[in-house]
Amino acid sequence: MATSDSGAPAALAVPEHDSPAATVPPVTGPNQLAAAFGKTLSLASRSVHADDYINNHQAVAPPLHVSTTFRYSRNPDDLKQWDNHNPAAPYDSHMYSRDSAPNTTRLEAILTSVLGGPALTYASGLAAFHAMMVFLNPKRIAIGGGYHGCHGVIKVLHKLNGLEQLEIEDDADLARLQKGDIIHVETPLNPTGEARDLAYYRRKADELGCYLTVDATFAPPPLQNPFEFGVDVVMHSGTKYFGGHSDMLSGVLAVRPDRAGGWMQGLREERLVIGGVMGSLEGWLGVRSLRTLELRVTRQSESAQRLVDWLSSEVNGGKGLVSETVLKLQHASLQPEAADETSWLRKQMPNGFGPVFSIWMKSEELAKRLPSKLHLFQHATSLGGVESLIEWRAMTDKSVDRKLLRVSIGVEGWEDLRDDLLQGFQALKDELA
Ligand SMILES: *Cc1c(COP(=O)(O)O)cnc(C)c1O
Repeated sequence: MATSDSGAPAALAVPEHDSPAATVPPVTGPNQLAAAFGKTLSLASRSVHADDYINNHQAVAPPLHVSTTFRYSRNPDDLKQWDNHNPAAPYDSHMYSRDSAPNTTRLEAILTSVLGGPALTYASGLAAFHAMMVFLNPKRIAIGGGYHGCHGVIKVLHKLNGLEQLEIEDDADLARLQKGDIIHVETPLNPTGEARDLAYYRRKADELGCYLTVDATFAPPPLQNPFEFGVDVVMHSGTKYFGGHSDMLSGVLAVRPDRAGGWMQGLREERLVIGGVMGSLEGWLGVRSLRTLELRVTRQSESAQRLVDWLSSEVNGGKGLVSETVLKLQHASLQPEAADETSWLRKQMPNGFGPVFSIWMKSEELAKRLPSKLHLFQHATSLGGVESLIEWRAMTDKSVDRKLLRVSIGVEGWEDLRDDLLQGFQALKDELA
C-alpha cells in the first residue's frame, strides 16, 4: 500500500470533501443495491444479494438460527411492548419465531425482491392460500379446476362461514360475484401446464369489484410477473420452484405494492395468531435455493420446451414408438396463442412456458406402467425440484383422467430425459406385446 511522506496510509491524506462517504451517506436497507447501482439489478443478481443488508456478520453463507426466542435489551429504559429493536442489527431484530425469525426474514427479503411485492412465508402453499382467504374474507370465490388442495381449503371455510365456491370458467357463475369476493386464477394450471389470461380476469374483477388473486406456483420468476397484470395477491407453493430441491414445504404470499401498507400488517398480524409459519431450517434452505432460482427455472423451462416440441412432433407425425403409445400432450406452449407474438400469452409468459406438462397415454394401463420403466424420471407427486418427476396423476387426484401423466422437468440434460422416455416407451411396448 502507498504511504504518504509522513508514513500514514495514502488514503488518509485524501481531503475530506473528496470522500464519497462524506457527501453521500451510505444507504442501508432493502434498497441499498438499487441505490448503489442507480437501477434495479437483474433477477439473477437480486436472488444472490437482495438479503445482503440483513447480513451483519462476516460469514458469507447465512447461519442457521434455530432459536424460537430472542433476548430483550438489558437497558430497562428500552423495554417496550412487542418491540425488541436491536440498533446493532436494525433489519434482523426479533422477539419470538411465530412472529419473525432470522432465516425466514432473510428468505422473505429475497422473495420480496424477486416477486416485486412485499412477501410473507407460510408453512406450506395451502397454509398461504388459507391465510389469504382468511385475510380477504370473501363470501364467494370463483376458482377453476387446477390444484385440488385449494378446493379443500374452501370446503373448510364453507364449513366455518358458508363460503361459496363458483366456477371461474362459467360466465353465469362469474356474474354472481359481488364486491369483496375473489377471482382466484391458477396459471399455468395444474396438472396440464396450460396458461390462463390474467389481464382478462383483471378486467372481470374490476367490473365486479372483486379481488384478483393468482396461484403462480407453476411459473415463478423469470417466467411471469402477475403484478404487471394488476393481480392483488400472488400466491406460491414455495415447496416447488422456490425450494427447488424436493426437501422443504413452504408457501408464499406477495402483495401488490400499492396494497402493501395495510395488507402486509394485517396478514402478518393474522399469521402471528394462526401460527402457520415456516421453520427456521426451511427458511435457511429457501435462501440457499433462491440463489439459483433463475438458473434452475430457465433451464427447466427450456428443457421442458425441447421435450414438448419433440414429443408433439412425434405424436403429430403419427409413426413410431411415441405415437403408438401417446395420445396427446398439453402445455402452455401448445396453446394456439403461443404462436402469436402479439397474444396475451406471449405477453404474460415472455421467458418460457414452464417446466410442467401433461401426457395423455392411449390407455390407463400405459399411463400406470410407464413411470416404472424410467430410470431418470422418478415416479412421485410434486414438481419444481432439480429431479425430473413423472406422476400417474390418478395416484393423488381422483378428479383427473386416468390416462394422464404429469411431468415435471428437472435440471438433467434434456437429451438424457428424451432417451429415458424413449426406452420407457419401448419397454412398455415389449411388455404388452
Ligand atoms: C403444490 C401446490 C399447491 C400446494 O402447496 P403445498 O406447499 O403442497 O401446500 C398449491 N398450488 C399449486 C399449483 C401447487 O402445485
